[in-house]
Amino acid sequence: MERFKLYINGNWTNSKNGEHIDVKNPSSGNVFASIPRGTQEDVDDAVNAASDAFLSDAWRSVKPHERGDLLFDIAEKMKSDRDELAKLESMDVGKPLSQAYADVDAAIRYFRFYGGAADKVMGDTIPIEDGLLDYVVREPLGVTAHIVPWNYPLQIISRSVAAAIAMGNTVVVKSAEDTPMTAMRLTAFFDELDLPAGVFNHITGFGYEAGAALSSHPLINHVTFTGSVGTGITVGQAAMANVVPSTLELGGKSPNIVFADCDIDKTVEGVVRAIIQNAGQTCSAGARLLVEDSFKNEFLQKVVEKFESLTVGAGMDDKHLGPILNEKQYNHVLGLIEQAKKEASVVAGGNPVTVEGYEGGFYVQPTIIDGVSKDSKLAQEEIFGPVLTVFTFKDEAEALDLANSTDYGLVTGIWTQDISRAHYLASRIDSGQVFINNYGAGGGVQMPFGGYKKSGIGREKGWIALYNYTQVKNVAVKYN
Ligand code: NAD
Repeated sequence: MERFKLYINGNWTNSKNGEHIDVKNPSSGNVFASIPRGTQEDVDDAVNAASDAFLSDAWRSVKPHERGDLLFDIAEKMKSDRDELAKLESMDVGKPLSQAYADVDAAIRYFRFYGGAADKVMGDTIPIEDGLLDYVVREPLGVTAHIVPWNYPLQIISRSVAAAIAMGNTVVVKSAEDTPMTAMRLTAFFDELDLPAGVFNHITGFGYEAGAALSSHPLINHVTFTGSVGTGITVGQAAMANVVPSTLELGGKSPNIVFADCDIDKTVEGVVRAIIQNAGQTCSAGARLLVEDSFKNEFLQKVVEKFESLTVGAGMDDKHLGPILNEKQYNHVLGLIEQAKKEASVVAGGNPVTVEGYEGGFYVQPTIIDGVSKDSKLAQEEIFGPVLTVFTFKDEAEALDLANSTDYGLVTGIWTQDISRAHYLASRIDSGQVFINNYGAGGGVQMPFGGYKKSGIGREKGWIALYNYTQVKNVAVKYN
């Protein structure tokens, strides 16, 4: 069993307390690695190292295009190691191997996208009066903290770390205690670069220890947090206590709105994929199906048929669905399914699955729940499993009301041939992203992503995310 180390100031090191956390493979339930249980003292070392690196001539003298080259180098290393990264992500998260490959490819694209952007974020000049030159520059913030969830670890680290480094910040990553493996690999790639010590640091540990110490550290200048709403509020408050900004990427209960005039086969395909990807453990999962009532029976029947054809198995066996992350999440998902059996009707799945040879894994049938009341926990809260809840509407107004009826607002799918209706709904829906006749097309790297309402604050991905990692300085020069 491999034992990993923290990465602080260019050195691999054990945590000060010498304690470790076991890492389990969700497909089998077996422990296959261990990571240090980093605490306040380790976080302090990492943040101090990042702060010193930020102020050093060694880092300041790296030109923007050279920062871009460093990010391109990481992309190349990831590409050469693509198979190993995908295998690690699949083992660690339990996700089907082909989905892990898609994650690795997206992560590579983040490093390329932000590598290319490193020397292209420009300032302004502002016309004020003769004899006054006014200009605006965008400067890096300093030390940026990156707190990562367990469901898409490599992609989520890559998207914010690449943008922060592109803009000249130094970073401290706190990976997810359940799924740190690809973060470790990425750290090894940073270690191989000719990078000033302290520019990239990686802490592992529990959220309430290492994560809390990082988000409240007085030398942090920005926190990017991806995770649950409750933790996001805690992290945002900790950042605010130091008067530093935070970008919060939180949860979702995203709807797919299906009208009777949709292309039925493509819509079934899109709706099913949106909920089963990563076994439903996706912030942007299409967890609610809102379907026009006159079309419900025909459409739902096709969705049920599709669900019944889906296969479940170990991540490395690359079935349609892998396991749930761990026993706690598994019990949470099964508990909500049991609640559904009492207050609504389960029309597909609804049971745990035993996978031969992987009896210790946490598998659940893809499940459809019909007849859920709009105010029920099943309709309002993230289940974070392969569970689709179904609602009907009679017209656009009711569809809109249902779509906007949760505290979340991350992603919405609209399926119709009526383009006028689609644009109207897109303009009225509280959602950071709206997909019309697709769900997640484009892979997301260039598109701003983030939430309305309790799904978060700020945007990641795309060009706009670069501005998270800069602050604006205005300089006014009086001349004769
Ligand atoms: P989580 O909130 O439990 O943990 C996220 C990270 O925060 C982990 O690294 C954890 O160690 C750390 N953490 C926990 N307590 C902390 C504290 N007190 N202070 C600082 N850090 C702390 O979330 P999770 O269970 O890992 O992830 C699932 C959640 O993440 C879901 O709600 C999902 O919707 C959301 N998510 C959102 C996005 C997005 O981009 N919007 C992407 C993926 C996941």
